[in-house]
Amino acid sequence: MFIAHVNRKGLSLHQKIPFPLDVMGSRLEYLIMKLLGKLTDAEWLYRNDITKNAVNWLANRVVIPLIHGEVVTPEEIERIVRRLEEEGHTIALGLCECRHGEKRMEEGLEEGRDPNYTCVMIGDWGKGHLYNYPHDYRPISADELLEITRFWFDRGRVINAWGCSTLHGFFISYCHCLPQYCVPLRHQLLRGNVVFYPGYNYALIDEELCQGPEDCEFNCSLHCHFGAIAAHQGKAKVDISRCHGCGQCFLHCPTGAARGVRKENYELIYCAKDVVYPEG
Ligand code: SF4
Ligand code: SF4
Ligand code: SF4
Repeated sequence: MFIAHVNRKGLSLHQKIPFPLDVMGSRLEYLIMKLLGKLTDAEWLYRNDITKNAVNWLANRVVIPLIHGEVVTPEEIERIVRRLEEEGHTIALGLCECRHGEKRMEEGLEEGRDPNYTCVMIGDWGKGHLYNYPHDYRPISADELLEITRFWFDRGRVINAWGCSTLHGFFISYCHCLPQYCVPLRHQLLRGNVVFYPGYNYALIDEELCQGPEDCEFNCSLHCHFGAIAAHQGKAKVDISRCHGCGQCFLHCPTGAARGVRKENYELIYCAKDVVYPEG
């Protein structure tokens, strides 16, 4: 199932797991998302302390150590995708496995683009998806993919890299997620288990420049999926403890009041800092 090992000195990905396991895992991924979606939504499980603790134990001790997401901005993922292409790794775009598993497809097209085709599979994990689902996945160039990423980011989606933190940082995919469809994001927001690790930045808002959510044409408080922005005395205010650095506010704020601030001495696992910020 695990494909790409992130070398701390760069993004040299190398195969560690036999390819047949990639094929099998990618074939079954949608069923895993379906199961996790059912465990997330089953209210009865969370009413009883024993079953609630059992699900939370499963989430925190088994599932999240095996796979978790790291929130990134469009610029950060651009650096990663360019490096992946330079190094010759497979990059495949295809059907969102959460939507696939839960059979909850978005209707219609956005400017000719299908909103359900938002999963990006990397390395042998990508080859596995291309092998299993040749009608739903296709190889894609960095240029086309980055344009698509920006397109969905500008329509409110959170970009995050996925991998397996306990097996030396295997990087397998990145996604453009919305809480209405994304099982892991829904799980985090509903049940409080942290599946999305915050990215390299947090947002700060300059009160002087902020027009205030009520008068702002963008109103970042409506675009923060992590509930980190609220109106305070007529201005937008960020709760840094909730901010995941997704960039929805600071890359769309019409006045420049919201800005992203880099965290000091902070490292993500799949988005190695020397790839994402080669300038230091
Ligand atoms: S994590 Fe996001 S894009 Fe990926 S499969 Fe789930 S909803 Fe789709
Ligand atoms: S988008 Fe900018 S101006 Fe608008 S409410 Fe948010 S911080 Fe204020
Ligand atoms: S405050 Fe801004 S950067 Fe932070 S999570 Fe919310 S939208 Fe993303």
